[in-house]
Amino acid sequence: ARYVFRFGGGVSDGGAGDRNLLGGKGANLAEMASIGLPVPPGFTISTAMCSRYYAEGEQFPASLRAEVADGIAHIEAVTGKHFGDPADPLLVSVRSGARVSMPGMMDTVLNLGLNDETVQGLARAAGDERFAWDSYRRFIQMYADVVLELDHGAFEEALEIAKEDKGYTLDTELGAEDWKALVGHYKALVEEQWGRPFPQQVEDQLWGAVGAVFGSWQSERAKVYRRLNDIPGDWGTAVNVQAMVFGNMGDSSATGVAFTRDPGTGERAYYGEFLINAQGEDVVAGIRTPQYLTRAAREAANARAPSMEEAMPAVYGELARVFETLETHYRDMQDIEFTVERGALWMLQTRAGKRTAKAALKIAVDMAQEGLIDRETAVLRVDPLALDQLLHPTLDPEAPRDVVAKGLPASPGAASGRIVFDAETAEQRANAGDNVILVRIETSPEDIHGMHAARGILTARGGMTSHAAVVARGMGRPCVSGAGSLAIDAKARTLRVAGRSFKEGDILTIDGATGEVMAGEVATVQPELAGDFGTLMAWADEKRRLAVRANAETPLDCRTAREFGAEGIGLCRTEHMFFEAGRITAVRQMILSDSEKGRRAALDRLLPEQRADFVAIFEIMAGLPVTIRLLDPPLHEFLPHEDAEFEEVAAASGVAIEKLRQRAAELHEFNPMLGHRGCRLGVTYPEIYEMQARAVFEAAVDVARRTGDAPIPEIMVPLVATRRELELMKAVIDAAAAAVFAETGHTITYLVGTMIELPRAALKAGEIAEIGEFFSFGTNDLTQTTLGVSRDDAGRFLATYVEKGIYAKDPFVSLDVEGVGELIEMAATRGRAARPGLKLGICGEHGGDPASIGFCETIRLDYVSASPYRVPIARLAAAQAAL
Ligand code: PEP
Ligand code: MG
Repeated sequence: ARYVFRFGGGVSDGGAGDRNLLGGKGANLAEMASIGLPVPPGFTISTAMCSRYYAEGEQFPASLRAEVADGIAHIEAVTGKHFGDPADPLLVSVRSGARVSMPGMMDTVLNLGLNDETVQGLARAAGDERFAWDSYRRFIQMYADVVLELDHGAFEEALEIAKEDKGYTLDTELGAEDWKALVGHYKALVEEQWGRPFPQQVEDQLWGAVGAVFGSWQSERAKVYRRLNDIPGDWGTAVNVQAMVFGNMGDSSATGVAFTRDPGTGERAYYGEFLINAQGEDVVAGIRTPQYLTRAAREAANARAPSMEEAMPAVYGELARVFETLETHYRDMQDIEFTVERGALWMLQTRAGKRTAKAALKIAVDMAQEGLIDRETAVLRVDPLALDQLLHPTLDPEAPRDVVAKGLPASPGAASGRIVFDAETAEQRANAGDNVILVRIETSPEDIHGMHAARGILTARGGMTSHAAVVARGMGRPCVSGAGSLAIDAKARTLRVAGRSFKEGDILTIDGATGEVMAGEVATVQPELAGDFGTLMAWADEKRRLAVRANAETPLDCRTAREFGAEGIGLCRTEHMFFEAGRITAVRQMILSDSEKGRRAALDRLLPEQRADFVAIFEIMAGLPVTIRLLDPPLHEFLPHEDAEFEEVAAASGVAIEKLRQRAAELHEFNPMLGHRGCRLGVTYPEIYEMQARAVFEAAVDVARRTGDAPIPEIMVPLVATRRELELMKAVIDAAAAAVFAETGHTITYLVGTMIELPRAALKAGEIAEIGEFFSFGTNDLTQTTLGVSRDDAGRFLATYVEKGIYAKDPFVSLDVEGVGELIEMAATRGRAARPGLKLGICGEHGGDPASIGFCETIRLDYVSASPYRVPIARLAAAQAAL
């Protein structure tokens, strides 16, 4: 097999379609070269080699040497320079590049090919002594860090000392002789720490770097990133070896990163940053604060340093033409790295740009309207889960703001929380239930778990494309970066700004859309659901087949659900209504009573309350179907605990406290999840379900009469295992309906169905469908009972299960399609065979999970039901599943 693929100089061994083999970076370099864009020549060692490298005990096969030598020969032929040539050396960069981008997670080595001899050749060829020695010290520093894994603090310290000795403050003040001296120091440091001199053979340097890049695939931070982003560990990374071009060859050289549209808002404006006389890593690392790309952006930010458009108009014009070429070619927003070497533009990378949910929507809608893509592509472009970012509140523009600092609006959204100064504390406090804001001077890839745990991220240094900004946007965390006025003391855990002082645990608010940092908490407002969101959702609705309902029982949730486009209620959990103040005592009275008569007395008190609940829901849902589930949880969940609570029940029921306590003790269960719950309550105490059914029908008649919108109640019996259970419960419900219709002289059309949430019910679905008029898969319990894993205790070990690949994802979040899915499919088939047209839905948490929704489409359920905030996600996921 072949492992090395060339690009540049009129050659492209691969293209954009080869992402799996060449990684994203390699595939796109080859693609850009093939459409005639200026790409420095190079070659890619494929991801297949990474897999083989690990399979063979971190060894390279002998055959790779010849292939790499051919690759180097290709670069030499195109550039006319030679690797290791003391007169005019070829220098290369060695970079990682996985199938999907993992920003900052893996290693890079620049300026490779420098040694004590070639540095002189580089100085002569470039006519710039200072540049050559600066490049050499950068190379030694990077190589020592990345390949030799030496302590990089010592190198930074050496640089600081060198500057102090000379009284310099900026790196740019160091001259050729200074850098030369520093190179001497660096080499001594390497020898001291590594025990061997810095490698002078350029081939050794190259193989060391290639090994380090492959090695970085298994670094801790890369593993964490993969876990958070569901990237399989066996994909591997490719290695890209490419001729160096220099952005640090003086003032006609520069380096930058750019997006063809604004990745924060989606606006159609070039967006990016550049640094004159710098190397690529300087921009991304956030060490120097970069300049804007366009004049408009600079003016909007009121910045003084000239934009690229102003400082280098000709190259900027060329760059703008490249942006247009790339957008029409890829038909998506691109994220680009470029370098200008003495006035010549070079493209180092392009990829589909990461973007916020807001930008994703706007770009998809705009591109469809511009004719670049069709509506189906637009619908497929937006990640349904990302919509979550848009559905949550933003800062109330009217609320007072105690602004203490302003940074860059690096990732939109607002967040309030307690400030913490390191990733570990962020994680601990978040696990303990705090909302935290992670405050760092700058973030590094090691902080990734803390960024994930935090509600928002605030940094003192770094631009819009710094690590913090890129990662925060990808995670959907609000971020303000480069707030330069913050004086952060991470050791003392304090933050000073604007003459004020904040310590760990104090509350700050950040607004990632404006860059403002505020003391205390700021009020929020509901999101805007019109505009691009409305447009894309309307396109999605045209494409989807599955109906989308909501799990809701309060009037507020029902209203939210409707605003988000729910087409009915798929699960109204009536037990939630029993906890309300004023009625819990009646509920307790019912439970603790030891006779039907006592229970009925309590139920009579609950009836009007329950009826009022349903009236409110039916009014809001105005003629849409509402699935009402009868009481489900074990009764002891409602039991009194405090003395005062017992006293209240005693007063209401006239039963002695001692008796009530004894009864409460009797209700104790060893395994309540498999105990006296669900329809077992209805079987033993039919009067409970009778009261609930009566409340439903009385409410339905009332609303139908008053509003003219006849409600469509679908009464659902929980935890059914057998046909007979459902038959008994249906009789209770039908009798209540008949009684109410006779009393009122008004009839309502309704259905009686069941949840399928036990394996036996799935197996016997054919029989159960003879009675039930609809099924709703309760996949929370069905997962619990099929896997034999307690949904309340699984947290302790499931993460390990996912890590070890036993389940691909947490089966309570994303349906175990292979196992639980098979039961569902079987139940659907058997149910439909017994009752053609049987209505089928899903109401477990999985009803809001895009992957699970995909499965629901495959087996052609009628609807999914999700929590209100997940309704838009479900609508979009259902459309994508149908396409
Ligand atoms: C289920 O079990 O999936 C379900 C929706 O019911 P609950 O979560 O209330 O048990
Ligand atoms: Mg359940």
